[in-house]
Formats: sequence, structure tokens, C-alpha cells
Amino acid sequence: MTASHVTLVWFRDDLRIADNPALHDAVSRGAPVLCIYVFDEESPGLRPLGGAARWWLAGSLRALRDSLRGKGGDLVLLRGDARALVPRVARQAGASHVVWSRRYGTAEQAADAAIKAALRAGGIEASSVNSHLLNEPWTVSSKAGEPLKVFTPYWRAALAKGSPDVPLPTPSQINAAAWPADLDDLRCEIGTLGLEPHAPDWAGGMRAEWTRGEAGARERLERFVRHNMAGYAEGRNRPDLPSTSKLSPHLRFGEISIRQCWHAALQAQASGESAASAADVETFLKELGWREFSYYLLHSNPDLARRNYTRRFDAFPWRENPDALKAWQRGRTGYPIVDAGMRELYATGWMHNRVRMIVASFLIKHLLVDWRRGEEWFWATLVDADPASNAASWQWVAGTGADSAPFFRIFNPIIQGEKFDPDGGYVRRWVPELARVPNSLLHKPWTAPTPLLEAAGVRLGQCYPRPIVEHEMARDRALAAFRALAPAAS
Ligand SMILES: Cc1cc2nc3c(=O)[nH]c(=O)nc-3n(C[C@H](O)[C@H](O)[C@H](O)COP(=O)(O)OP(=O)(O)OC[C@H]3O[C@@H](n4cnc5c(N)ncnc54)[C@H](O)[C@@H]3O)c2cc1C
Repeated sequence: MTASHVTLVWFRDDLRIADNPALHDAVSRGAPVLCIYVFDEESPGLRPLGGAARWWLAGSLRALRDSLRGKGGDLVLLRGDARALVPRVARQAGASHVVWSRRYGTAEQAADAAIKAALRAGGIEASSVNSHLLNEPWTVSSKAGEPLKVFTPYWRAALAKGSPDVPLPTPSQINAAAWPADLDDLRCEIGTLGLEPHAPDWAGGMRAEWTRGEAGARERLERFVRHNMAGYAEGRNRPDLPSTSKLSPHLRFGEISIRQCWHAALQAQASGESAASAADVETFLKELGWREFSYYLLHSNPDLARRNYTRRFDAFPWRENPDALKAWQRGRTGYPIVDAGMRELYATGWMHNRVRMIVASFLIKHLLVDWRRGEEWFWATLVDADPASNAASWQWVAGTGADSAPFFRIFNPIIQGEKFDPDGGYVRRWVPELARVPNSLLHKPWTAPTPLLEAAGVRLGQCYPRPIVEHEMARDRALAAFRALAPAAS
């Protein structure tokens, strides 16, 4: 043992120093503080991060380490099974208290419970705090105390709990505890975790798009509430415009807190810094509510990414179609709005929400591919791949989830493209081979006369694919399959 009365802060999905209740708690105790992050791929049942999220994590950890150093602290990085490492470090560092922010997956909670028990058995106090959500899932229920299955009543009940607490201040100074010298061999450097790609380096498009870390998150939030929140209620559906906040990966890794987003939106409007209407702000807060609702569902449905929330869909006759799945993944379905979305995702690690719904609907309904294959691809390629929002959203689109889109809602990718990308700016950016096709035909190039396509430099089937499935046929096929399974819902 090297010191006494150290407080250990175990960072997880809360990679920030502002409004961080775990760090705030530790600093307030007045004892020296030791900050750690454990890259754990060994605790049973933990889902390994996808490639894009791993890339994000590397930048986020670097930024957190630098922020902590700027306050006099540091971040010690460890690799391995947190169930063994956290109690060991706490013991050797002479910690009297360990604090962390809660997570909501079953495997994560099981690991945390084991660690808490081990710490307490060794006479070390352990506490977990909420820093990820506005409301803990178990604190929101119907008036009768029942869990809620539909978003609107859920959100009403959540709002009735009152305004979220104001964000906590950033600690002005961190009194750093010494790392126990006998554990020096456990420390590792971010670069040794293999989180970022080298050969080949496929992260160029992501580097160009994002500034990982708390400062980048705060800058995005400020830019959004000042300049882009006005018009959000309508504009949020337009992928060709900078109409949404793009805060999702920052929220995913906790580089900014949900409370900071909530209060910044309200404050910008109240102070006149933003020209946003009440409807714009309300819509934005409601979207934060969908994130909350996703965690609410995950908490009571630990298998949300693997099992149909509505069990009767377990019998659905999904089609095995590896070629179609690959065409979808690569953005080569022949439907420009679908292909634009899938290419945006692959290049930047992010996709606009409206387009996420369109591409997900296309995979599930037009191709009848199991929604879990889509969830897995998003998990691998999204920088914001989130255990709750990704699974809940895929199930929502599939119609298998809570409060889902009804099975007969099948997005028409042509109409969706024409409606939400009316000038074609989004498709032209991501499907440049169609750049010279006129707007009226851009979302259905196969209907264009050959001379017109030739004049636009397009040869269907060569530089750009013909549709891999015909829309009307696919729609009828999906309706028949869903109707056969779900007569109760028709
Ligand atoms: C098939 C599918 C998969 C998805 N997978 C994810 C995922 O892995 N991670 C993820 O964060 N979001 C996911 N979403 C939800 C949504 O698409 C993204 O949160 C949103 O596009 C992020 O962009 P933004 O930050 O600009 O959002 P904004 O419109 O600016 O919204 C602000 C924040 O609210 C939250 N939010 C907004 N819409 C939703 C929603 N429908 N569900 C849950 N939270 C929402 C996000 O945290 C977002 O950052 C998915 C949606 C679909 C249809």
C-alpha cells in the first residue's frame, strides 16, 4: 500500500471533466484522486466495440487525459478484466473509496456488481452515480407504477419529474494521487490498444469530420444551439442541410452530458442567443427523450440487440441474402438515397437520422434481411454506435420493438429522397457518379431515357447499379410476409 485515503475514479462512458458527477464527488472529498480507464474485452458478455467506435474512443481518451493533466490530475490506462483490475488497483493505491458512473447493459451491470462486492469485502467504499441519463430507468413509471411501453406517456412521465439538475462545475484543481509503483507493469499507452487503424488507415473521412473529446463536443453544442437549432423542428429531416446537432458520438462516449445539452438549448433560446422557436427547442429536447427511452427499454430488455422485443416476430421468415446485404453495406443498391446514406456512414461513421430510417427500412422490408444484420453493421461502422439507441431504433423500424413503426409503413426510397433531399445535394455529395442527373430523375435514375443518362455520364449497370430489387414487388412481398405473421396488428 502506497498511500491512504485515496479516491479512485473509474471512467467509463463519461469521458469528460465538466458535469461529471463521479469526478465531482471524488474531488469534493478532498482526498488525492486517482483516475483510471480500463479497456475491458474480457468481462463475460461485454460486446466489443465496433471499428469506428474504437477509433473514437482513442481520441476521446487522449482528450480526457490532457484535460485531467491540465487540472493537475492524470488518466491511467489499463487493459484487461475490470473485475480483477479495479479491486487490485484500489487496494494497492490505498483507496478508501471508488466511484464510477452507471452503465445499463446487463453484462456491464453484472461486472459492476461483482466489483462493488469485492471492494466492499475489502473494506473499500464503492458508489455509482448517474451521469449518462436525465432519469434513471427505474424512476419513471406509469401512475400505477407499471413500466411504460410507449414513448409519449413515457416522455410525459419523465417531464413530470421536473427540470433536470443544472450541470456541475468543472473541478478547478485535481489533487492527484500517486500511482502505486508496484503496479507499473499494468499501465499501458493509448497507442498500444490497437484502437486506430494503420494499414490500411480507413479513418481519414472520420478525422476530417470530427473533433473527438470534450472540447469538440462543447464546440458542437454551442454551434448548434446558436446557429442550427432555429428551424430544427422542420429542418431535422433534411440530410442535405446542417440541421441537426451531430452530438450523438459525443453523447455516446459521455464527452458532453445530456444535462449540458438540455440546459444549453433552453438557455440559448431564453437569452436570445438562438432564434429557435419554442417548437424547435421542444423537438430537440424530445429527441433527447428518445435516447432516454432507448435506455429505458434496454434496462428492462437486456437482449434488445439480439431478441425481438415483440416475440411473435421470432417466427418471421427472414431471407438469407448475402449479395443483397453486401450491396446495401457498400451503398450499391441502385436507390440513390439509400446508397448515399450507406456511403456517408462508411466514410464518416455517421448518418443522418432520416436516412438511417430509410436505409434500415430498405434492408428489412425491401430485402427482408433480419434487422439484426443491419444492427450489427451499424454497430461496426457508427462512431455513435450505442447499446440502447441502435438496438431500439432497429427494432422500431422493423416493427418488432416497443412503440414501433407499424409493419405496413414501408418507406418508398424514391419519395423519401424527393421529399427530404429535394435539391439532390445529399445524393450528389455521396453518389458523385449521379451528380449530373437532373433533380427530377435523380432519385430514380433507372426511369431516365438512355440519351439523358449518357449526357449525364451515367451508364446504369456499369458506373452505377440498377435497382437490386423492384420497389412495388418488394413492398407487396413485405406486406404479405408481415401480414401473414401479424394478423393481430393488421
Ligand atoms: C436504424 C437506426 C439506428 C440508430 N442507431 C443509433 C446509435 O447507434 N446511436 C445513436 O446515438 N443514435 C442512433 N440512432 C438515432 C438517431 O439516428 C441518432 O441519434 C441521430 O441521427 C444523431 O444525430 P444528431 O446528433 O445530429 O441528432 P439530433 O437530431 O441533433 O438529436 C440530438 C440527440 O438526441 C438523440 N437522438 C436523436 N434522435 C434519436 C433517436 N431517434 N433515438 C435515440 N436518440 C436520439 C441523440 O443522442 C442525438 O445526438 C439510430 C436511428 C436509427 C433509425
